[in-house]
Amino acid sequence: MKITAEEAVRALLEHAGDDPDREGLLETPKRVAKAFGEWFEGYATDPKEHLSKCFTEVGGYDEIVILKDIRLESYCEHHMAPIIGTAHVGYLPSDKVVGLSKLARVVEGYAKRLQVQERLTAQIADAIEDVLKPRGVFVIIDAAHFCTATRGIHKHGSSMITSAMRGVFRENPAIRAEVMALISDRR
Ligand SMILES: [Zn+2]
Repeated sequence: MKITAEEAVRALLEHAGDDPDREGLLETPKRVAKAFGEWFEGYATDPKEHLSKCFTEVGGYDEIVILKDIRLESYCEHHMAPIIGTAHVGYLPSDKVVGLSKLARVVEGYAKRLQVQERLTAQIADAIEDVLKPRGVFVIIDAAHFCTATRGIHKHGSSMITSAMRGVFRENPAIRAEVMALISDRR
């Protein structure tokens, strides 16, 4: 038997020990179901489209493009708990570049799904690599997992750092070191 999202939320409220029929909770299943539409809006998008729509040819530019401190809001697929942090994305163009906001859109498109941080990091790098065909791309994510911060081992204040390095960023230790220095600069 398939139940609706609202019925499922009702069951969770009961599971938590509350009474889904008390006044304050009456509208909660509807609100949660609606909020899911925003929290998981990534499923309705193809993040690569943000990149393919909007590239321009810029002959001659051969420096690294970096977008730092992108707000990251994702959800752990093991607990459906928030993963909140920061993403840094950069690439060394071959001939295509995109507006910086498009990089943030790609992060968001993959983040607004149920994720593990390692896969999220790789998916963002893969998308940029596939569409822009840069000489290199890197993605670094620094995020706190609410499932470990608020339950289990209660590791409050700890964060997890993952990185995906492709092309020159993987092959060239000097460039990789330069990137890590740029990213950690403002801490
Ligand atoms: Zn978790």
